[in-house]
Amino acid sequence: MARCPDCGGEVKYKAPFMVCLDCGLSMKRWDFDEQSKKIKAEFKKEMGESEEESDRKERQKKRDYHDWIMKKED
Ligand SMILES: [Zn+2]
Repeated sequence: MARCPDCGGEVKYKAPFMVCLDCGLSMKRWDFDEQSKKIKAEFKKEMGESEEESDRKERQKKRDYHDWIMKKED
């Protein structure tokens, strides 16, 4: 479900806008996608996590899962 970048409320798509049900913020779909990308990037920066780092973690997670599956089948 989409979240309002402003208040975190529920956002519904009402062509051609995304409208926040809580604060009434509305924007074009494209803007909304851009906004959420920006917010995610900022959030990661705040957490001190780079794009590279989260990629690495993602791969590690998959590897761990794979190992776990293999062990289970032994
Ligand atoms: Zn809102």
